[in-house]
Amino acid sequence: MKAADFVYFRATSVAEAVNYLSEYPGESRVIAGGQSLMPMLNMRLWRLSALVDINHVPELGRLEVKGEETVAGALLRHAALETSSLAAERLPLLASMVKFVGDRQVRNRGTIGGSLVQADPTGEMPLGCLVLGARVRVQGPGGVREIPMETFYEGSYATTLEFDEVLTEIVFPKHPQHFAFMEFARRHGDFCVLSVAATGNRSPDGRWRDLRLGLGGVSDTPVLAMEAAALLEGSRLTDDDIAAAAQAALAVIDPASDIRASAEYRAHLVPVYVRRVLQKLRNRAPA
Ligand SMILES: Cc1cc2nc3c(=O)[nH]c(=O)nc-3n(C[C@H](O)[C@H](O)[C@H](O)COP(=O)(O)OP(=O)(O)OC[C@H]3O[C@@H](n4cnc5c(N)ncnc54)[C@H](O)[C@@H]3O)c2cc1C
Repeated sequence: MKAADFVYFRATSVAEAVNYLSEYPGESRVIAGGQSLMPMLNMRLWRLSALVDINHVPELGRLEVKGEETVAGALLRHAALETSSLAAERLPLLASMVKFVGDRQVRNRGTIGGSLVQADPTGEMPLGCLVLGARVRVQGPGGVREIPMETFYEGSYATTLEFDEVLTEIVFPKHPQHFAFMEFARRHGDFCVLSVAATGNRSPDGRWRDLRLGLGGVSDTPVLAMEAAALLEGSRLTDDDIAAAAQAALAVIDPASDIRASAEYRAHLVPVYVRRVLQKLRNRAPA
């Protein structure tokens, strides 16, 4: 099948894109890499009156250092995140996670902003940005606003963006010292069954601080396991500490059954993968 007819606009600035979106209230969408949008249009899961192409807004593709913060343009391709030395230095968690997004072709076109707005609960980028405490910058007719990742999602495939807003940048605070990520998928590059990411800082006395633990694929949005992480604050991440946190992480999940796995299987995997990720975090940090 092919997409139903739509009008195509090529925007050369964010303001122009916002104007086009406003002309078709609720019936237009931004197209970035098209890796999720085009299949949905071709399968007629969506019918839109207008597409607004932001690929010709050059400033949206940047990755920049601004003091302690790192700012990624919404149009930064997955492949750029994967190969950029700046990303490896400033956003190593995301750079490691992005390798699990689809295949080479998908990563060559797909963008970080598109992944965030697509809001797939199994998506690697939404989980990584949540765990890193990022905030998204969006521009609409009323100007620019910032939304913390913690409140960006309303549910599965649903964000708090207005129909005439464009996601322009993702702003990351200083990256934690240490990170670990694992996911379980039936084949590498498939949408995952579940994923777990953890970050933290290890003090010279061997105690861990500022731990953040996030899970993907086990609720309608990526979730932070705040209480589980709080249990580990000041600990040395012993096997007993980790076992307690792995059980506590079950409190935040609400898994669904789908073609990839049952809800029961996902729940079974949560403590297993939380334990493995926290052990990886501990073992990667120099003693
Ligand atoms: C074969 C295949 C395998 C895949 N595997 C994975 C996987 O393993 N993990 C994973 O996370 N994803 C996977 N994906 C999905 C894909 O990687 C991302 O969802 C995709 O890259 C989204 O980025 P995009 O730039 O292509 O967005 P598009 O498809 O262009 O847009 C997606 C949505 O976001 C909106 N949008 C995009 N940019 C903006 C913006 N700046 N402001 C406002 N709205 C915007 C669009 O209107 C649309 O609703 C896969 C896709 C395919 C085709």
